[in-house]
Amino acid sequence: MTVRYRDGIEIELSDGKQVVCDADNPDGDVNIVSHAHGDHWPESEVSAVCSPLTADLASVRRETPLHRTTDERVTLLPAGHVAGSRAALITDPDGTQYLYTGDVCTRPRFYLDGFEPPSVDVLIVEATYGEPEYVFPDHESLAAEIRTWLTETSDPVILLGYALGRAQKLQLLAQEADRDRVLTTDSVQRVNEVIEAHCDVDFGAEPYESETELTAGDALVLPMTSGRINWIDQLADEAGAIKAGFSGWAVDSSFKFRGDYDVTFPLSDHCDFEELQSLVEAVDPDQVYTQHGSAASLATHLTNAGYDATALRQNQTSLGDF
Ligand SMILES: [Zn+2]
Repeated sequence: MTVRYRDGIEIELSDGKQVVCDADNPDGDVNIVSHAHGDHWPESEVSAVCSPLTADLASVRRETPLHRTTDERVTLLPAGHVAGSRAALITDPDGTQYLYTGDVCTRPRFYLDGFEPPSVDVLIVEATYGEPEYVFPDHESLAAEIRTWLTETSDPVILLGYALGRAQKLQLLAQEADRDRVLTTDSVQRVNEVIEAHCDVDFGAEPYESETELTAGDALVLPMTSGRINWIDQLADEAGAIKAGFSGWAVDSSFKFRGDYDVTFPLSDHCDFEELQSLVEAVDPDQVYTQHGSAASLATHLTNAGYDATALRQNQTSLGDF
């Protein structure tokens, strides 16, 4: 058995076939795309095992098509990260079962079910928040806190989050908090429409255009794109708007200062440190590989807890014993 992290995660099965997960240029016998975030997307036109929603999101977010396929060795499980995201349960012909989580969240939130971990032999788990200080508040209390802030703030607010994932949750929170108008850009609207067609949800946002003037009671949801920070700052100044940032990194106060936000909330689409530990306990694997973010820290904590855990570093090979 071999698990490697080269261009994405490569798993070599006992019959020599390669399964490649979330690569930029996938060339496996089986390719898997876990979800439609830019850092997990093939650059070239490719056929991959993915959810129908991920394939549809891919078609509105970029020009290169993502062709959805299936494979008898791969079962997709809702990963709870963003709409359409899937973890992959891979069965080797020798019976060994692998679980590749991709980005994952076990907390049920809005229209997403939390990930329910199956028991497998080999686990490859993401480690974005693999450091003990990253523990998030309970989702319902955090959502209530954000809604209260949205209700009590009369100034226009600019809510910043990724176009796929955070932006949809921010629109729902603003809608639930009875803001006068919820506005968003074309790029977010395109993502909204695909999710609305697949899930029982209506984001209810109006288009934000260059001539739209922000007034008190408005909530403008903008995709977090670093190239537009000056434009967003200027817009906030002109409208007297309050800029809010939403991310798991908001647990650390430096997030607020680095992003120059007026207010931040630790709203995340990932497992926190404790949820990662619980996920591994539920899977109860013989071998764990950690990847992304704090892979080394998470592997150390899992090793101390008695697991056979290894952090995957890009272009280093890890050999397992089966
Ligand atoms: Zn993601």
